[in-house]
Amino acid sequence: MKYVSTRGATDLGRFSDVLLMGLAPDGGLAMPERIPAFSPQELENLRGLSYPELAYAVMRPYIDDVPEADLRRLLQSTYTEAAFHSKDITPLTRLGQSNLYLLELSNGPSLAFKDIAMQFLGHMFEYVLEGRDERLNILGATSGDTGSAAEYAMLGKPRVNVFMLSPHGRMSAFQQAQMFSLQEPNIFNIAIEGVFDDCQDLVKEVNADAEFKARYEIGAVNSINWARVLAQAVYYFKAYFALGLPAGAEADFCVPSGNFGNVFAGYLAKRMGLPIGQLVVASNENDVLNEFFATGVYHVRPAAQVAQTSSPSMDIGKASNFERYVYLIAGSDGVQTKGWWDEVGASRPVDLRGSPHWDAVKASGFVGGRSSHADRLNTIRRIDREFGRLIDPHTADGVLIGERYARSGVPMVCLETALPAKFEETVQEAVSRTPERPERFVGIEQRERRSVVMPNDVTALKAYIEEQLAKRLRD
Ligand SMILES: *Cc1c(COP(=O)(O)O)cnc(C)c1O
Repeated sequence: MKYVSTRGATDLGRFSDVLLMGLAPDGGLAMPERIPAFSPQELENLRGLSYPELAYAVMRPYIDDVPEADLRRLLQSTYTEAAFHSKDITPLTRLGQSNLYLLELSNGPSLAFKDIAMQFLGHMFEYVLEGRDERLNILGATSGDTGSAAEYAMLGKPRVNVFMLSPHGRMSAFQQAQMFSLQEPNIFNIAIEGVFDDCQDLVKEVNADAEFKARYEIGAVNSINWARVLAQAVYYFKAYFALGLPAGAEADFCVPSGNFGNVFAGYLAKRMGLPIGQLVVASNENDVLNEFFATGVYHVRPAAQVAQTSSPSMDIGKASNFERYVYLIAGSDGVQTKGWWDEVGASRPVDLRGSPHWDAVKASGFVGGRSSHADRLNTIRRIDREFGRLIDPHTADGVLIGERYARSGVPMVCLETALPAKFEETVQEAVSRTPERPERFVGIEQRERRSVVMPNDVTALKAYIEEQLAKRLRD
């Protein structure tokens, strides 16, 4: 399979090349040149496969530059009960006798759905770097979930170092402890005296220095990575088969969304032939996506207009993976997509109303909704009371909007994107008790911490990276 850019470049190489690539050279995102679909019979043959076997079947058409036996082995060692604390990897639970289901994606190492793709990325990076005898120094910015998922995935991987920037004192106590308590020498936690956007700007500044970037083998694991999107498509298949519906019957999915990576993976599964009806995009107060599906106008918001909410992992003003969706809506037209994204880049609205593209959006099955802090608290409380099930604030955004669109006789699968233990403060506010923590995280706040505090200064950051890498080479 060859990869192309959403902005028109046609030769990005094959899977292993786009795995290590950030943005495409033309500024677009990597996409496979086509999306092969399973026939109904082929789909039936996937029913009953174990998670790693299913992952192989779904991902193989897009990863044809890795020998079959190697890919199977990598998937077997990624999707284990030991890492995900469940034999099913992503178990599906029905809420009482309703037609609402929770797809549990958060039982992995860092307690958020990002583990599912990031764990695969960790294994795949190590494999590809080994083959090429290369090294990679991941530089990232996090407000919580991405950083911890990336660090847990890269722990002890000898060819990879992680430099993770976070806003000093602004993550939840649990998230801080989760990251800062890691003692492995290839993990570097850097608390920046600033806000999340300052961290992101520092990453951009370092990446803009091509010489530094090449000399220190700087890479990324951000949500635009194609391998992450692809790995996420697998659990839509897993959930669909777990519903046990008759062949061809539809299921709906509802996804708490920020950068549009998770729900786009659902759209990929749909384009691959999985009978998905609606894809419900749940937003919080930062609802650019909801606004688009309601009005046909996509208008990104500058960082200063992004509100801090109690579902912080969805606080975005610009959904990076959305570009992949409009590219497919435009019939894989890179020139059209580039035209639109020139507007987006200049913070001007893109208006699809009245165009054939808007009809394509309508036909794609996407709908959206928005929730508030009060909605979140009420939903957490109500789902706890009615079904004895505690959910986190992001999942609550999803369940609320999912219920709104649920159709009689059609299962609505709500994706559980984090465990409540990760967002204790809000859950406590909703139900006046502290959510249970998995045993391995009990007392984590008391563990020894390994992190540095740094001013918001790119020169200091570069000097630190240089110094630490030199030290790593000596040890
Ligand atoms: C990252 C994240 C999201 C948003 O997912 P996207 O793929 O960016 O849309 C939602 N909930 C939680 C808990 C997350 O960590």
